[in-house]
Amino acid sequence: MRIFYRLCKMSSIMPPPQSLLKPMNFPRKSLYGPGPSNCPPRVLAACALPLLGHCHPEFFQIMDEIKEGVQYAFQTQNELTLAISGTGHAGMEAAVCNMVEPKDVVVVFSAGLWGERFADMAERHDADVRVVEKPMGAVFTLDDVKQALDHHKPSVAFIAHSESSSTVMQPLEGIGDLCKSHNCILIVDCVASLGGAPMFMDQWNIDVLYSGSQKVLSCPPGAAPISLNQRARNKLAARKTKVRSFYLDMNWLGNYWGCDGQPRKYHHTGPISSMYALREGLSMLVEEGLEECQARHQKCANILYEGLEKMGLKPFVKNKAHRLPTLTAVEVPDGIDWKKVSQYAMDKYKIELAGGLGASAGKVWRLGFMGYNAQPENVRTTLRVLQEGIEWSKAGGDAK
Ligand code: PMP
Repeated sequence: MRIFYRLCKMSSIMPPPQSLLKPMNFPRKSLYGPGPSNCPPRVLAACALPLLGHCHPEFFQIMDEIKEGVQYAFQTQNELTLAISGTGHAGMEAAVCNMVEPKDVVVVFSAGLWGERFADMAERHDADVRVVEKPMGAVFTLDDVKQALDHHKPSVAFIAHSESSSTVMQPLEGIGDLCKSHNCILIVDCVASLGGAPMFMDQWNIDVLYSGSQKVLSCPPGAAPISLNQRARNKLAARKTKVRSFYLDMNWLGNYWGCDGQPRKYHHTGPISSMYALREGLSMLVEEGLEECQARHQKCANILYEGLEKMGLKPFVKNKAHRLPTLTAVEVPDGIDWKKVSQYAMDKYKIELAGGLGASAGKVWRLGFMGYNAQPENVRTTLRVLQEGIEWSKAGGDAK
């Protein structure tokens, strides 16, 4: 007893961190960058609801409703449709690890950061990765796609619908048909476009589609909608090797989400509050209507383009038809430090004017009006603040 008492005295406990004894610091900010976007009060209220068990029937019902919402947003009837417990990257990882087996030839159409990331992930799964590269701001034509498929004969291809680093929206019509005729699975990233631009998963023959929760759906980050069609399911079923992630294995997830007709088994503890939020975000999309929501985003984008033109500023993507309606890269004028102007907007107005990403870093601001934030008055306010910041910078305000 005495020895035990002495041992306890010897092992001194760390002092508690003083930072956690103070209240959390979170200023209210207008998140007009590439996401997360601000959550509407309804979504925040949903996050605060009491928890249910992750295998309770009421929670399963909420999951079923989310599935219907994702099917609507994706415009798909695919049975294997669900939300991954994780951010957009988890959706991307799920697409890769379920579809790619070692030595699979994977063609990545890359014109920005998301192509690079996908190639990196596919390499980690020992795929034979062939990157078909274009400069940032460019799109791939059906000819580019056909040539790559003919030449490389891949079993999997990736393309980003919403290349948010350049703010290009890649036209997709015809690419799925080409992939299908080449017996190749097409994976598409629509993290930054879903709900804000037309998306027709079934009509466009997309085999695997994934997105995120924190952009147009205006939910907190942490849920990634994903869907696999029958061709993708066949590739999954024909795998010679196990999916190299237990957590993201679509066989397990499909069961947990009630997509395989079998009794649901515990796989992981679903992030209950994130799913409440997603359910609410999808409800808002359904109430507004997909086409109406897309039209609202396009209207905001048009107001932004007009305002930029009046200010003599230029969108990075020249062809209007190839611009994302949700997020716009704006070229930083010569002699202006983008970061100082962004800091000005944040300090004075608590407005986020984000910078570039990957190769566009330092060259552009990226202005995003997504979901709850996609309102004309937010665009007009941002244009005024951007103008004020640039004038302040030109007048030497940033010299300090
Ligand atoms: N893809 C695209 C097109 C994105 O814009 C993002 C987020 N910026 C992601 C994937 C990754 O999503 P997350 O940051 O939620 O992991």
